[in-house]
Amino acid sequence: MAFDVEAVRAQFPILQRQVNGKPLVYLDSAASAQKPQAVISAMTGAMEHSYANVHRGLHTLANETTEAYEAARRAVERFINADEGEVVFTKGGTEAINLVAAGLARTLSAGDEILLTQMEHHANIVPWHFLRERLGVVLRFVPVTDAGELDLDAYRQMLGARTKVVAFSHMSNVLGTVNPATDITRMAHEAGALVLVDGCQSIVHQPVDVKAIDADFYVFSGHKLYGPTGIGILYGKAERLADLPPYQGGGEMIGLVSEEAITYADPPHRFEAGTPPIIEAIGLGAAIEWLNGLDRPAIAAHEAHLYDRMMEGLAGANWLRVIGEAPGKGAILSFMMEGAHAHDVAQILDRYGVAVRAGTHCAEPLMRRFGVTSSARASIALYNTEADIDAFVQSLSKTQAFFA
Ligand code: PMP
Repeated sequence: MAFDVEAVRAQFPILQRQVNGKPLVYLDSAASAQKPQAVISAMTGAMEHSYANVHRGLHTLANETTEAYEAARRAVERFINADEGEVVFTKGGTEAINLVAAGLARTLSAGDEILLTQMEHHANIVPWHFLRERLGVVLRFVPVTDAGELDLDAYRQMLGARTKVVAFSHMSNVLGTVNPATDITRMAHEAGALVLVDGCQSIVHQPVDVKAIDADFYVFSGHKLYGPTGIGILYGKAERLADLPPYQGGGEMIGLVSEEAITYADPPHRFEAGTPPIIEAIGLGAAIEWLNGLDRPAIAAHEAHLYDRMMEGLAGANWLRVIGEAPGKGAILSFMMEGAHAHDVAQILDRYGVAVRAGTHCAEPLMRRFGVTSSARASIALYNTEADIDAFVQSLSKTQAFFA
């Protein structure tokens, strides 16, 4: 199955529009990806034809909606090779990590160590800081090399009897580095620690098999995976989810409630208090089924080709500093332009219809590691074309002329 970028691109209505009189060149997919018609139609279709609240009803619409919601869960389970009951719907990647951190709190005490890395998104730092503040656990950060790789020797040495949790991103949202998740997980387990993998970026660009990685928890968001906002996934091994207390209280997550006592539902429902993001779950299921119909290795090759073309186009640019040069990295370019603030670069690029992100990318420790306060970031998705890359390279040269 070859990858026909024009045919795929035609399925994204928003990519037809213009920005500032220029064709849109969308290079901000690592922040949030655009949505194919299949996702939009699945969501509007659900609202137009078969909508009610899930699980509680005995009428036809409630049953149909419940079936669609649970079918989306099955799609996620198959997509990552999880077993039934191991996939929890959350409102995003951030909430999934908060849910795990809050749940593990009761197993941790002062002096216990949580190992993170210098390349984490704040979503995988701040929930652990809460535990540092509340319990006195110690946060330690595995260093990142100049090329943007994790220093695995340092990691090995940092692991010890006090290490209770290792939490790391599978793919950096700034550097594009893809971390060896299976090896990192194995080493953590040998030290007796639990493992959480932040898969928000990696899930988009490579097949993920949670059994092969063997992490205790794997989280990701819907909106980067061509699905809607408001939906994320917490995968947890059945025995880990069984050990985890509820995160929020309300309807759906209980067994029995009386004036004196409560019991809780089994996972995954124990973690889905209240009316869940029904339409969003259906949208994520549609995004996954849509992706399943494409040739994912061919997509990865397409994205790598576009990244190489970008780097070739920028080869002579001595005013550019790139962070993130790990071998096998994903198609994300973070850069600083000499004499220009990243925010100004992004704003000027927008005049040419080119959308990139600028700032700290919710990764302040990483910015500090590289001695910068911000960077601009161009991130590539399956719908980008060679023409997009060439427009970016040309627009960036014109932008540089403003500051030269
Ligand atoms: N982790 C990483 C690596 C991310 O890139 C992001 C999104 N920027 C998140 C976590 C947060 O995910 P969400 O937007 O679903 O809360």
